[in-house]
Amino acid sequence: MATQISTGAAELRDITKMERIGAHSHIRGLGLDERLEPRQNSQGMVGQGKARKAAGMILKMVQEGRIAGRAMLFAGPPSTGKTAIALGMAQTLGSDVPFTMIAASEVFSLAMSKTEALTQAFRRSIGVRIKEETEIIEGEVVELQIDRSLTGATKTGKLTIKTTDMETIYDLGTKMIDALAKEKVTAGDVIAIDKTSGKISKLGRSFARSRDYDAMGADVWFPFAHSAVTHQFLQTKFVQCPEGEIQKRREVVHTVSLHEIDVINSRTQGFLALFAGDTGEIKPELRNQINTKVAEWREEGKAEIVPGVLFIDEVHMLDIECFSFLNRALENELAPLSPHGLPVDLLDRVLIVTTKPYEPADIEEIIKIRCEEEDVVLDEAALNVLTTMAGQTTLRYALNVISCAHVLAKKRKADKVYVEDLRRVYGYFMDAERSVEWIKSQQGSLVF
Ligand code: ATP
Repeated sequence: MATQISTGAAELRDITKMERIGAHSHIRGLGLDERLEPRQNSQGMVGQGKARKAAGMILKMVQEGRIAGRAMLFAGPPSTGKTAIALGMAQTLGSDVPFTMIAASEVFSLAMSKTEALTQAFRRSIGVRIKEETEIIEGEVVELQIDRSLTGATKTGKLTIKTTDMETIYDLGTKMIDALAKEKVTAGDVIAIDKTSGKISKLGRSFARSRDYDAMGADVWFPFAHSAVTHQFLQTKFVQCPEGEIQKRREVVHTVSLHEIDVINSRTQGFLALFAGDTGEIKPELRNQINTKVAEWREEGKAEIVPGVLFIDEVHMLDIECFSFLNRALENELAPLSPHGLPVDLLDRVLIVTTKPYEPADIEEIIKIRCEEEDVVLDEAALNVLTTMAGQTTLRYALNVISCAHVLAKKRKADKVYVEDLRRVYGYFMDAERSVEWIKSQQGSLVF
């Protein structure tokens, strides 16, 4: 092991970190107001108000540094948003807050011990934000970050621009400050700006759309947190200097996880092992050295710890050895938030948040949000049918039906998804309950 600890930041800089674009891509946060009250439909979240508020309160405590290394248990019927709320928490914490999701069954493998697998999961959930100041090189792709408080307002607007041209950066930077000052846009808005006239148009908040606009090039800004593509961008801070001109000050920030630092320093092939996924076991001495080094960076103000979220699904699959390990790990100062579920004797140590079945109105709203996210137009009657279907099966099943039905509708060149598309998908794919019924009915005649 080299004495010089490397963060691998330079190598990792170019890696586009893929965002979870899937079942939860519409979730952008917990959808709470400043008083932590749940908004009915906000940041992709609908209903489940009590659980969202409870999650928001925990987050506040985390942000204020009042709790760390605590576990939360989300308990509730299938498909009632436990994972969605955990993801919403991660998003609220910030775009570079690590969120690790594992299924308890992944811990059991021949390749490494259970405690090693859990340690890696914990260390993947702890970020190290490393700061550095460098010059912008002409032709680089940069991200602009404008502090809205400089314009007299208190909020911070964070928007991203993709361009390689320095003049455009300065020019659009000025226009962006103007737009923010006039309160036309807020953080999270996807906006397009006309380079010549400076006219701003709002494009909504859909991730899918911001990707399309991204392809249009430098005129388009979209929010950092919503875009997978922008993860590789460097951060640039623009401030207004006394003469009212824009001044460039660049602070490059990389966030890597403790696990990434471990891997980079433990193998001769370095960061490439991260791609292979096969990182092997890591020696405790190495981890100790890295902990010491990171603590030094913190003291020197070079790095900050970013506590993340470790979400363990199917927690009932873990065994007593894992639970006692988790119990010890939670007392560690660096431990992240939120393992999902613990056995009864540990329950009084965790914060329990419950989720309840959805009302049809909430289901309908969630379906609409998903359709917008996936750019699917659903016929009115199909919306009703899908809402009923979600009530009778699970919300997750119904949401999966949307994309399949969309494929069928497109195939027959229909402009919308109609009831007949839903019916066909329902015929092709079973929900959990029907599949259980089916297996029962086939008993004795099935060969696996
Ligand atoms: P399980 O117990 O089966 O793991 P779960 O409680 O974790 O389920 P999720 O996976 O979070 O349920 O929810 C199922 C689907 O419904 C996901 O696509 C999720 O994003 C969406 N969803 C659930 N609750 C909400 C909500 N309150 N607002 C918006 N979308 C939601």
